[in-house]
Amino acid sequence: MTDDRAVAKLQALVRIPTVSDRDPALVDTAAFDGFVDELAAQFPRLHAQLELTRIHTHGLLFHWAGHGDARPVVLMAHLDVVPVDTDAPWRHPPFGAEIVDGAIWGRGTLDDKGELVAICEAVERLLESGFTPAQDVWLSFGCDEEVFGTAAKEAVAELTRRGVEPWFVVDEGGAVADDAFPGIKPPVGAIGVTEKGATSVVLRVDGRGGHASTPAKFGPTARLARAILRVDRAHMEARIPDATVDLFRRLAPHAPLPLRPLMANAERLRPLLTRALIAAGPESAAMTRTTFATTTLQGSPALNVIASTARAGINIRVMVGDTVADVITHLRKVINDDRVEIEVVEEGEPSPVSPVDDDAFRLIESTIAEVFPDAVPAPYVMMAATDSRHFTTICPRVYRFAPFRMSKAQRQAIRSSDEHLGVDDFLSGITWYQRLIERIPR
Ligand SMILES: [Zn+2]
Repeated sequence: MTDDRAVAKLQALVRIPTVSDRDPALVDTAAFDGFVDELAAQFPRLHAQLELTRIHTHGLLFHWAGHGDARPVVLMAHLDVVPVDTDAPWRHPPFGAEIVDGAIWGRGTLDDKGELVAICEAVERLLESGFTPAQDVWLSFGCDEEVFGTAAKEAVAELTRRGVEPWFVVDEGGAVADDAFPGIKPPVGAIGVTEKGATSVVLRVDGRGGHASTPAKFGPTARLARAILRVDRAHMEARIPDATVDLFRRLAPHAPLPLRPLMANAERLRPLLTRALIAAGPESAAMTRTTFATTTLQGSPALNVIASTARAGINIRVMVGDTVADVITHLRKVINDDRVEIEVVEEGEPSPVSPVDDDAFRLIESTIAEVFPDAVPAPYVMMAATDSRHFTTICPRVYRFAPFRMSKAQRQAIRSSDEHLGVDDFLSGITWYQRLIERIPR
């Protein structure tokens, strides 16, 4: 009965299309207002007993006073979602929140309304039972995560203003992931301990334009093309970070026999493993080094006009151990052409690595073991960016883990069509947050 009601709450909130956009004028403010109102209606105890501070436009920061406030805990989620690509057909309406085959279907079920509602439901249930957490608990819900917005930064500023130094932070990121690694049978309770930095640059070549009937050799587009190819062919140094070594060591006992010694001795065999990961394909290669993807291209707007300026956007994911400055040095060296200008349009360093040999990590790990006994908890380096990166400035222990079982297909659906969350998996997620809060020590 309580479970049915929890599912109905998630359905109601998935049906509100809180799609974020980099251009504030294109955001449906009414949808965000509606979401905040609906959340208040669905979780009356939480809203009555926790103190709410509005952040930015629709960011929410709740404060739940515990027995102590020396080691506060922050649980994060975001209420905005990515748009629905109209070209990709959905089996069930993206904002319908229909329950079919034991799952709730809709945009945001996994990313990130499932987490948000599971956190709220866990708190609501604990309040109902008269529970007070051992330490202060803060809930920080962003409203512009998907567009690299500022709400999370402003939440950090608010916490700083109030003198709050979190003991640890939990945000989206990893999951109880099936088929996370080839040959590994049990699901991996993947806890992101750092994330690559998201940086973007634009390469720009200026030259003489003119009519396409009288082209000069090696104009801006050709020069730009050469630069793009040079970037594509050269790589920055590859390596296996400590978190990945730890991941391999923990997975080793579950790996196919021939791979076991290799993974168990990952520390010693780093160079060999690095080469193996690069050879295994782009996904695993991305675990070892900074990646460069040429994404946008701009030349002349007309077929018969030579471009006077040609531009290429490059999206870069900076590996732990590299810096944005290293990346720019690398680009200048491999492009090796002074007439190609490099403009940094978005600068994101990799996040500091959160500790694994640590009580907070062990608390998360043991709560995973309790609620998902078949899973192998392990740290990993995240490829994508989350709001929690902003919290690394006030907290050294930032862990990215969503307590939901996800198949490979489900993880891939997060940014495309058919996003869905199993009903039972949603309920286990509520239990996980509830147990995590209950297990916070004095
Ligand atoms: Zn997200």
